[in-house]
Amino acid sequence: MPGVTLTNVRKSFGSIEVINNVSLEIGKGEFGVFVGPSGCGKSTLLRMIAGLEETTSGTVAIEGRDVTRVEPAQRGVAMVFQSYALYPHLSVFENMAFSLRLARASREKTQTMVDEAARVLQLQDHLHKKPAQLSGGQRQRVAIGRAIVRQPKVFLFDEPLSNLDAELRVQMRLELARLHKQIGATMIYVTHDQVEAMTLADKIFVLRDGVIQQSGRPMELYDDPDNRFVAGFIGSPA
Ligand code: ADP
Ligand code: MG
Repeated sequence: MPGVTLTNVRKSFGSIEVINNVSLEIGKGEFGVFVGPSGCGKSTLLRMIAGLEETTSGTVAIEGRDVTRVEPAQRGVAMVFQSYALYPHLSVFENMAFSLRLARASREKTQTMVDEAARVLQLQDHLHKKPAQLSGGQRQRVAIGRAIVRQPKVFLFDEPLSNLDAELRVQMRLELARLHKQIGATMIYVTHDQVEAMTLADKIFVLRDGVIQQSGRPMELYDDPDNRFVAGFIGSPA
């Protein structure tokens, strides 16, 4: 069963094509990583999956359902951004409960979902705090918690760790791997960091100038890169 399928997807801004005929599939429950240098089109690709950007042509499917013309809120995806965008005046609990309140979830359901997310993310002791009272890593966990409570089919992460210091990045990377094992949802993670890609991915997609250069298991790309660009990016002497 596919989790996310892109078929012949193109995206132009004005006369400039930034995604050039991308087709790819990420299996349900897999951890897919888009990796490539700044400006290669990673965020644009992710935003088209989320529905925040329309495709110029081509289709997006989630678990086999064509969502190309479906509103973001109806796609069953949740996106976690690099800037946490938490509400500063709301507690951790209220930040995580926000989308459930919008969806008019019951008080019981809201409590259950937030408690469960807090447990997974080890935020139980911080639910009453405001974002300003949290560390960078805790804030990032709250941002992830806001996605978890929505129980999306697909989690989309756009360089979520790039604002954190090196040590915390390593720690959060391990937590994301654990989270993926624990909840088993399809996840797509965008990064320009090869180490993150190699350690997190079930499947890596190496992007350059809006074109997928190669995709496969991390060790496949490492051992058998198709070209110098992939070799240079994944770090194997070609
Ligand atoms: P990445 O996330 O890999 O750094 P992006 O997807 O953000 O790359 O951008 C890919 C290309 O598309 C870049 O050249 C960027 O300047 C351009 N681009 C992205 N969004 C827009 C937009 N809204 N309008 C015009 N150009 C854009
Ligand atoms: Mg980007």
